[in-house]
Amino acid sequence: MTTHKRYTGLIEFYRDRLPVSANTRIISLGEGNTPLIQLQNIPRLIGKAVDIYVKFEGLNPTGSFKDRGMTMAVTKAVEAGSQAIICASTGNTSASAAAYAVRAGIKAFVLIPEGKIALGKLAQTLMYDAKIIQINGNFDRGMALVKEVAELAPVTIVNSINPFRIEGQKTAAFEIVDELGFAPDYHCLPVGNAGNITAYWKGYNEYATERVCGNRPVMCGYQAAGAAPFVAGEMIDNPETVATAIRIGHPQSWALAWNVQKESGGWFDKFTDEQILAAQKMLSQYEGVFCEPASATALAGALHDISTGKIPEGSKIVCTLTGNGIKDPEIAMLQCADTKPVTIDASLDAVKRAILDSL
Ligand SMILES: *Cc1c(COP(=O)(O)O)cnc(C)c1O
Repeated sequence: MTTHKRYTGLIEFYRDRLPVSANTRIISLGEGNTPLIQLQNIPRLIGKAVDIYVKFEGLNPTGSFKDRGMTMAVTKAVEAGSQAIICASTGNTSASAAAYAVRAGIKAFVLIPEGKIALGKLAQTLMYDAKIIQINGNFDRGMALVKEVAELAPVTIVNSINPFRIEGQKTAAFEIVDELGFAPDYHCLPVGNAGNITAYWKGYNEYATERVCGNRPVMCGYQAAGAAPFVAGEMIDNPETVATAIRIGHPQSWALAWNVQKESGGWFDKFTDEQILAAQKMLSQYEGVFCEPASATALAGALHDISTGKIPEGSKIVCTLTGNGIKDPEIAMLQCADTKPVTIDASLDAVKRAILDSL
């Protein structure tokens, strides 16, 4: 007899490892359970014997890993009787908060830096019908305002300073171990507010403590050169990068992330916008995986550290691809400015010639 088991989101799946009870109304869009794709062409291209897997979080319901944290944060906000949530966002948190708020039947307020949100993320947030408040300031300013206003108004903050966000996001580490049967040697990810690196480390630690896996990875946090407070060793005031999702100078999980670095024996490093965009293009053109610029920072870092031997051959590496490339069509079009589609006559002969010409 066949038993059918519908996947209904990460809270149901990892229920016994998350802070919910039998009575909790779970707010889910079926997030999690994202593919862990082993790269096949890039390792060959760089001529290194490494196993690189990418955890493609761009395939979550709103196209980023934020959904993992948001299902948990909104579930707990509703459980506590909250009627409204609020966040500051570089784009993905606002899209995710808006979607889960609609699902729950509560209101979402999002503060975004005017003109610094990727087009797809803005479109999503508008479609989900959130109350969008644009500010003429950056994410860090928005975050400070959100913290202040939450003291005065009945709204629940759903940025990653909300501990339930971290609880939801730690499940990505569970999925990796459940799938591989072990934790990777190195886990590489882009770092903005540093909530996600904190969440992965929590997940790996919980599994290692219970002996679900025997090892824990070295955690590698990569930043954009113009927004690299962890590399500078201090907060910075005017972060700038094409990777808008990590355009953050005052990370909220500052101390937690330093702790991850120390405990895991890992490191922080930074990469230029050119290096980030090259990695994004490489993933698309050699592996068929289209992530957003910020996400590609993970691969840019991994490839750099593999090339220098800091990550030795024989290593098993996981890179988290935090968001979907479709979210930022403007950057993608810029990246492909030199490869315009050919326009031909709508005739069989012309199509045939176009094909034969490029074989
Ligand atoms: C939020 C986000 C990040 C940064 O994650 P933090 O937890 O803030 O470090 C990276 N990439 C994308 C696509 C994001 O949306």
